[in-house]
Amino acid sequence: MKSQTHLEQVGEKPEQEKQVQEKLAQEKPVPFLNLQAQQKRLHDQIWPRVQAVFQHCQFILGPEVGELEEKLARYAGVKGSVGVSSGTDALQIVMMAEGIGPGQAVFLPAFTYTATAEVPLVLGATPVFVDIDPHTFQIDPQNLKARLQAVKREGKLKPRMIVGVDLFGQPAPWDELRTIAAAEKLFLLDDCAQSFGGSYKGKKLGSQADATTLSFFPSKPLGGYGDGGAILSDDEEKLALYRSLRSHGEGKTRYQVLRTGMNGRLDTIQAAILLAKLEGFEAELERREKIAQAYDKALQGIVQTPVRVAESQSAWAIYSILAQNAQHRAAIQESLKAGGVPSAIYYPMPLHHQPAYKSYHDGVSLPVSETVAEQIMALPLHPELTEEEIARVIKGVRG
Ligand SMILES: *Cc1c(COP(=O)(O)O)cnc(C)c1O
Repeated sequence: MKSQTHLEQVGEKPEQEKQVQEKLAQEKPVPFLNLQAQQKRLHDQIWPRVQAVFQHCQFILGPEVGELEEKLARYAGVKGSVGVSSGTDALQIVMMAEGIGPGQAVFLPAFTYTATAEVPLVLGATPVFVDIDPHTFQIDPQNLKARLQAVKREGKLKPRMIVGVDLFGQPAPWDELRTIAAAEKLFLLDDCAQSFGGSYKGKKLGSQADATTLSFFPSKPLGGYGDGGAILSDDEEKLALYRSLRSHGEGKTRYQVLRTGMNGRLDTIQAAILLAKLEGFEAELERREKIAQAYDKALQGIVQTPVRVAESQSAWAIYSILAQNAQHRAAIQESLKAGGVPSAIYYPMPLHHQPAYKSYHDGVSLPVSETVAEQIMALPLHPELTEEEIARVIKGVRG
């Protein structure tokens, strides 16, 4: 009898333990982004580089900034790069270099982060919002052509620039955008804040447009531990101009002011951290791809999983699924929440409807951006996710 009871207990215990473990796991939320775990994993690579900065004390434009600029340019296969203070300032410096200002139109997707539209407005120019592709969520070249013709017909604004945004980690339709920009003689800018590390037709993103801007905001695929950004270009003269603009428009010497610039420099400590993180960047991208594939496989047929841009590799900044409608999305978010899984909506409102921007919009409907904003939601996807956490995300969506 005694031994039987004992056996029963042995048989029961693992089951109980499993339940306790599952309960504990549910109580501990899955991190949407896990900078604690990332920082611990990379501590031994990052710390010596940061300490070196404290040794030489060149906190502004120290040697790490130049070293990072060289490595970023090599990684992207371009002539050079300029480290700047954020992805937003990178956009501003490129637009200042092109003389973007009042009476000019800058064409950009309605479905992107606010910074893309904010910068032309800061410079006095007008953003012209363009609709997106319903599958890839990237700017729609057909709608871009229509929007361009409408602006030209109206004759109030001079078209100057197209900003293609590589949304969520995937490339914008660069071949089409280049053709349109060349035909209309417009400057083509790649806002690659979300997608550095991704590639198109076997080439890393960074050389598709006249200039490419990056962000090192901590949640981006290559994120620092503070604000930071960079501009990539193949044009040596423009690179020199970006360098001047990021340091108050300085000339050959610091106290020669050639043009109106800004304080837009990348911090040396951030450059040191990014140099350490760049070492393991490819492995992180591979891990992101593995997780994306696991989600694809488990969620196909339940929601619309991300549609891959042909001949590309995503950097998987954001893994966004489409629900059938707003109610379906709310139900999935509830189910995830019950299992301790956070989700996010990028973006709940297209930019042409935003209070700050709608008065600059001509009022036309951009139906894809408007519908996608009601259906889209993002799942946690970062290299620190454990198998157990991935399973909990999948379980939450499957309901
Ligand atoms: C993050 C982001 C930016 C701005 O980058 P910051 O470094 O935060 O200034 C610009 N454009 C897009 C598409 C972004 O996702």
